[in-house]
Amino acid sequence: MPIRDDDIIRIDVPELNRLESAFLPEIFRGFGTTFRHFFTSFGQGKTSRTIQYPEERREDYHPEDGGMEIRNFRGVHRLNRDEDGRVKCVACMMCPTLCPANCIHIEAAESPWDDREKYPKKFEIDELRCIFCGMCEEACPVDAIELTPVYDVVGRSRQEMIFDKEKLLNVYDVTIEQKPM
Ligand code: SF4
Ligand code: SF4
Repeated sequence: MPIRDDDIIRIDVPELNRLESAFLPEIFRGFGTTFRHFFTSFGQGKTSRTIQYPEERREDYHPEDGGMEIRNFRGVHRLNRDEDGRVKCVACMMCPTLCPANCIHIEAAESPWDDREKYPKKFEIDELRCIFCGMCEEACPVDAIELTPVYDVVGRSRQEMIFDKEKLLNVYDVTIEQKPM
């Protein structure tokens, strides 16, 4: 379909004077902003949000201080335990089926307990592939998998960042008091 003339908006480029052509006013304005931030980054009235991590942490990102109440991010996963200390997961395969990053791998086996048919013999999450979308915890019918407020997990190899069942249960043990988002 041809474009009609009245659909076209013509813009006249304003003429620059000699000073503006050299971009000098904008350069000085940019320096002004840089210096203002430089001088307001210190002392009482500091406006900078830069902190010396890991010695300093933002309190609203700090789960131990109750910061998770207002956090707006998802941290590393945990596998929850039931009241008897067993893994809560019933190996229904909902989370690996829904996971958009395909980073959950479960091997189901016949449960050794009478109250469920299956349990995860093997449960692994590749934390480096995960995009922390939260779909797994949304999908879980028994609240077995959750994303915690813990964000500073590191590993020295890719393999270390593949969290197995024991590691995920251990995250639960150390974050048991922290309510996920
Ligand atoms: S948070 Fe999203 S990407 Fe990560 S394991 Fe869960 S479903 Fe997959
Ligand atoms: S959705 Fe929940 S119960 Fe199902 S496999 Fe995942 S963690 Fe286990």
